[in-house]
Order: sequence, then structure tokens, then C-alpha cells
Amino acid sequence: MPRPLKCRRVGFVPEAVYFKPAGVPGRELLEVVLTLDELEALRLADLEGLYQEEAAARMEVSRQTFGNVVAAARRKAADCLVNGKMLRIEGGAVSAAGRGFSCQACRHRWSISFGEGRPRRCPACEGSDIRRRGGGPGSRE
Ligand SMILES: [Zn+2]
Repeated sequence: MPRPLKCRRVGFVPEAVYFKPAGVPGRELLEVVLTLDELEALRLADLEGLYQEEAAARMEVSRQTFGNVVAAARRKAADCLVNGKMLRIEGGAVSAAGRGFSCQACRHRWSISFGEGRPRRCPACEGSDIRRRGGGPGSRE
């Protein structure tokens, strides 16, 4: 049985998701895809300057996993800058900032963006015993 991929918590979703060297037609460029969890790792490690242990805790992953994610992210960013590639940000196993919920039956955890209605069923097992869990960044819960 395949192990379910654990979601990595991200504290934000970027507005700009497409970066391209100016003045070069897109069709002539190679594209690199940076996932949202990789971007979040870059943000926590390199912009916020967190130690890996703290950054890993924020993303709810092990320190080793965080190290792997941030290493992959840095390699991709360097590849784009050095080799003039396009960068697209999308995907990744993430639970974005928003309202977090957890299922008491199967322990599935997920988030929905603000503005969506409260879920009635667990998306994984259809269970209805759903608890609200800690909110996004800045939350005082
Ligand atoms: Zn469930």
C-alpha cells in the first residue's frame, strides 16, 4: 500500500507564479517548475532566515525533509538565474494558509481558503466528525 503523501504546510500563496527572462520568446526557453512547498522552504529559510529546525516545524515536516525540499528549491532557482530559464510556480503537496480542518475518523488534515463554507464531510473518507484546527499565520488559536 503506498504511503499517503503528507501535506506540507505553507504560509502563503504567491501572486506571481510565472517568471521569464525579459525579451526572449517563451518558446525558446526551457521551463523549471517550482512547487509551492519548495517556494515556502525558500521563503522560510532565505527570506525569514529561520533555522532549519524551526522552518521544518512551520511546514510540519521533518528537518531532513525540509533540508531536501530547500536544497531542491535552491537548485531550481539557481538553474533559472544562471541558465536563463522560465520559472513557473505550481503544485506540490501542500495545505495552503486558510482555515485548517482535521477528520477525527481518518486523521486527514486539509485546509480551505477563507471564503469557502465550512466542509461537512472529510474529503478523504467522507466522515462527518470534522474539527477545526489551528489557523494560518498570525492566527492566535
Ligand atoms: Zn476522514
